[in-house]
Amino acid sequence: MATHADISLYAKSSICIASDEDEMTLKELHHINKANAYPSQLITAQQCKEKYPMLKDDYVKGALFFPDEINADSRKTIPAITQYLVQGLGMHIINGKRIVDIYETENEAIVFDTAGDKWVGGQVIICNGSEYQSLFPEEFPKADIQLVKLQMMETIPQHTSIPGSVLTGWTIRRYESFSECPSYSRIKADEDKTSFQNQLGVHILFKQTANGSIILGDSHEYATIDEEHHLQLQDNNQSINDFMVAEAKKIMDIDYTMARTWAGCYSQSKKEPIFHKKIDHRIHVVTAIGGKGMTVSLGWAAQHINNIFS
Ligand SMILES: Cc1cc2nc3c(=O)[nH]c(=O)nc-3n(C[C@H](O)[C@H](O)[C@H](O)COP(=O)(O)OP(=O)(O)OC[C@H]3O[C@@H](n4cnc5c(N)ncnc54)[C@H](O)[C@@H]3O)c2cc1C
Repeated sequence: MATHADISLYAKSSICIASDEDEMTLKELHHINKANAYPSQLITAQQCKEKYPMLKDDYVKGALFFPDEINADSRKTIPAITQYLVQGLGMHIINGKRIVDIYETENEAIVFDTAGDKWVGGQVIICNGSEYQSLFPEEFPKADIQLVKLQMMETIPQHTSIPGSVLTGWTIRRYESFSECPSYSRIKADEDKTSFQNQLGVHILFKQTANGSIILGDSHEYATIDEEHHLQLQDNNQSINDFMVAEAKKIMDIDYTMARTWAGCYSQSKKEPIFHKKIDHRIHVVTAIGGKGMTVSLGWAAQHINNIFS
C-alpha cells in the first residue's frame, strides 16, 4: 500500500537492549534470524551507546538491532489507510452504525443496525474487537478469550532524536518472538512471578513520534470476558504510570514531562493466534488477535478473505 499512497510508514529500524546475561539470550534470536534470513545485527554495549547516547551506561549489556523494521504512527496510518481504501480502491465505508442483529437465508446475509436499517450482502465478517455482548454473545465465554488492558504515556517533544523503536530487557522476557530461544524457558522459570512488574505485565519501550515526543509503555492487565469489570477500563492507574517512568529513568536520560497518558484494551485468544469461527455459511467472526493486530491484521485479512471466496 505504501507504494501507492502515503500511509505514514517510516523505515526506521528497532533495537532490543539487554541489561543482564539472561537477556543476552538475544544472541540466540540472532542465530535463529540468520537461519531464517531475517536481518538483525548483534551489537556491543559501546556500539549501542554510540547509536543512542541518551542510554544509561550501567543499563546496557548488548543489543540486537533490526535495520529493516518499519514504524507506523497509528494516529496517522489508520486514517491514511482508510482514505486509500476509499479513494484508491473504491471501497464503500460507513461509520457510526451499531450492528445489533445478523442472520442468513439461503442466498444472503442480512444485518440490522440500531436505527433499524437493513444491510444485505453475500458474506458478513464480524470483527467485534473486545465487544462481546452485541452479537453472538454465547460464542465467546467458552472460547478462551481474555481481555488485556494497557497503559501508555507520551512525553512532550524532545530535543534529542531516538531512531526507531527502542525495546528493553523486560521486552526480551515478555515477547513471543523470544520464546523460540533455547534459554527462554529457563529464564522464565527463574523469574519472580509475584513482582509488581510481572503482575502488571510491564515492559519498557520508547518510540519517538514525528513531532519529537516519545511514547513510553506499557503495562498489561488481564481478565476473562466475564470479569471485564475487574480491569476498570475507564481508569488510568497512576501507580502503574509512576512505576513505568521510574523504570524508564534507569534506562534512558530524556525529559519525562508527560503530555498525555491513556489506557486501551484489546482481546486475545489464549489458544490460537486469532479467534475465527464460521457461523452457518455466510457469517464469520474474526477477533482476539491480541497485541499484534496493527502489525499483522492486514496480511491475515487478505489470506482469510481469499479463503472465504476460494
Ligand atoms: C494501547 C494499545 C497499544 C497497541 N499497540 C500495538 C502495536 O504496537 N502493534 C500492534 O500490532 N498492535 C498493537 N495493539 C493491538 C491492536 O490495536 C489490536 O490488535 C487491534 O486493534 C485489533 O483490531 P480489531 O479490528 O480486531 O479490534 P478493534 O480495534 O477493537 O476494533 C473493533 C471495532 O468493532 C467495533 N464494534 C464492535 N461491536 C460492534 C457492533 N456490534 N457494531 C458496530 N461496531 C462494533 C468496535 O467499536 C471497534 O471499533 C495495541 C493495542 C492497544 C490497546
